[in-house]
Amino acid sequence: MIPNGELVSATYENLLVKCPSSNARTTLNRISDLGDVQPVASRNLVCPECGKTLQVSGDTVNPPHEILILDCHDLLAEKPVPLSNLQDAKAAIQAQHGRQ
Ligand SMILES: [Zn+2]
Repeated sequence: MIPNGELVSATYENLLVKCPSSNARTTLNRISDLGDVQPVASRNLVCPECGKTLQVSGDTVNPPHEILILDCHDLLAEKPVPLSNLQDAKAAIQAQHGRQ
């Protein structure tokens, strides 16, 4: 049986996964590491720390433009407001163009 990796956070660009064996936290870029931007319903990944296979699930199912808007909450807490405004604008543009 493949152990479940804990999906710590899911943003527009990245997933943060915690390995139950090594407790390592790995950031996976949706494009460069996973190869697409589709929600991760169930996917096997290899922990770079211990090499064990993990099953990851529970990704957000919001459309990408909504995820961008949700990501603004973290930007507001961590960074100056203008960056969150930029993120909000990107989400609005993507929603208008119907990009996934
Ligand atoms: Zn591990």
